[in-house]
Amino acid sequence: MGFREMSPEKRAAVIAAGVKVSLEKRASVSPASRFWMRVDKNGPTPAHCPELGPCWVWTGGTRSGYGNFWLGGRGIGAHVFAWVAVGGSVPVGHWVLHRCDNRRCVRRDHLFIGTPRENVADMIRKGRNARGDRHGSRTKPERLARGDRNGSRTKPERLLRGDVHPARLRPERLARGERSGQAKLTVDKVFDIRRRIDDGETNAAIARAYGLHKNTIRRIRLGETWRML
Ligand SMILES: [Zn+2]
Repeated sequence: MGFREMSPEKRAAVIAAGVKVSLEKRASVSPASRFWMRVDKNGPTPAHCPELGPCWVWTGGTRSGYGNFWLGGRGIGAHVFAWVAVGGSVPVGHWVLHRCDNRRCVRRDHLFIGTPRENVADMIRKGRNARGDRHGSRTKPERLARGDRNGSRTKPERLLRGDVHPARLRPERLARGERSGQAKLTVDKVFDIRRRIDDGETNAAIARAYGLHKNTIRRIRLGETWRML
């Protein structure tokens, strides 16, 4: 089982067991010193939030781009170790996420706890998904299959329609929410509105506060809009 899928109790147990094994095997080097030996504190400063200061970069092995730290015979995320090692906890259904978007970074104040859902929100907010000028159709336009080279002509049987259409299979990829051309709201506002809904405020009261129509709030409440958050 991957470390990420484990319950917090299991993670804590694995880390505790790893600490014990490591201590027994090599009494002189604690996991923490093994860990920090492989961290370069003069990493790059994130361009989208320079106020964070330089990343502390894991120089050991990686897995899926994330630093990988061996502990008690298992690889765990270096950023997760960094978080837990300083007493941070990771509640059920939450991940350790990067403010700096640098997966090898283990600097405590570059990390935060969030749900996978918040990670998606964070990604949309920061525009980390490739679109506009960073999208492949702009960076490598010569690769686009157009006219008779287009798949719809060469392999019409492969066209994805109805239930196999990506809009049904991967609805999360559609330009929804604030990426939608019609959006009046932002991810942050939607979270605020949800909080007010949970606090028992009426649609009309919330709508007034944001200068929106009460049906806009009603649709958020019913999950008809902003469903991906
Ligand atoms: Zn960082």
